[in-house]
Amino acid sequence: MTKQRSKLVVGNWKMHGRLAANAALLEGVAQGAQALPADVRVGVCVPFVYLAQAQALLGGSRVAWGSQDVSAHEQGAYTGEVAAGMVADFEAGFAIVGHSERRAYHGESPELVAVKTQRALAAGVTPIVCVGETLEERESGATEQVVGAQLDAVLAVLSEQEAAQIVVAYEPVWAIGTGRSATTQQAQQVHAFLRARLAAKGANVADVPLLYGGSVKPDNAAELFRQADIDGGLIGGASLKAQDFLAICAAATAGASVAG
Ligand code: PEP
Repeated sequence: MTKQRSKLVVGNWKMHGRLAANAALLEGVAQGAQALPADVRVGVCVPFVYLAQAQALLGGSRVAWGSQDVSAHEQGAYTGEVAAGMVADFEAGFAIVGHSERRAYHGESPELVAVKTQRALAAGVTPIVCVGETLEERESGATEQVVGAQLDAVLAVLSEQEAAQIVVAYEPVWAIGTGRSATTQQAQQVHAFLRARLAAKGANVADVPLLYGGSVKPDNAAELFRQADIDGGLIGGASLKAQDFLAICAAATAGASVAG
C-alpha cells in the first residue's frame, strides 16, 4: 500500500517576466487555483525583484511564492547577492537551490548548494533542492551515482529534523526546456532511488516531497504524477501560461497515485 502524500506543484519562471505581464499571470493563477483539489499545494518561484509583486498579488490566495536561488552567505560585502533572510522578508515560502542552470552556468558545487540549503532553512524558507544528471551521465549509466552524490552533499550537512523540511526536485538536465520529458518509468525509477536515500537519513525524511521537473506539460503531467514516488512537479516553461500551469496543478491530485 502506498502512503498518500499531498502533492506540490511549483513554477520556476526563470528569467522571464515584466511587471504588467506578471500581474496577469499571478492573478490568473491565484484565481484558477481556487478550483484545485484541496490536496494540491501550489507555488511560483519568481525573479528576486518580483517577490514584492508576488507577495502583493498572491497574499491570501492558495498560491505560495518563492525565489529561484539564495546566497550562501548570511549577509555582507557580496555585491549582487540576495540573502535568504531578504527573501524571507517578502514571506517567500520556497527557494529553489542547485538548479542545473546554476550548477552549469555559475559553477555551483554540491557543497555550495548544501550551504544554500542551510541558509534557506535557517531563514524559514523551504529549499527546493534540485538534482539531475546530464545526458552523457545517463548514457554512461551514472545517473544514480550523480543524483545520489548531489543529494548526499545536502543531507550530510543537515540534521534529520532539518532534512525532513526540504523538498527535492529530480530534474534530468537533458529534459529541461527541451520538450523531451523523462518517461514515467525513468522518472519513477530515479524517484524510488532518491526516496530510499532520503529514508536512509531517517524515518521523518522518507516522506519529503519529491518533485519531477523537465518538460512537464498538461498532456504528460497526470501520468508522471500518478507514479508512486512522484509527489508533484517543478515546472519551467509551462508555468508561464496560467492555463497550462493550472492544468498541470489539477493533474496532481494525491488520489491518483498508483501503489508502488
Ligand atoms: C526547470 O527549469 O526547472 C524546468 C523544469 O524547465 P522546463 O519545465 O521548461 O523543462
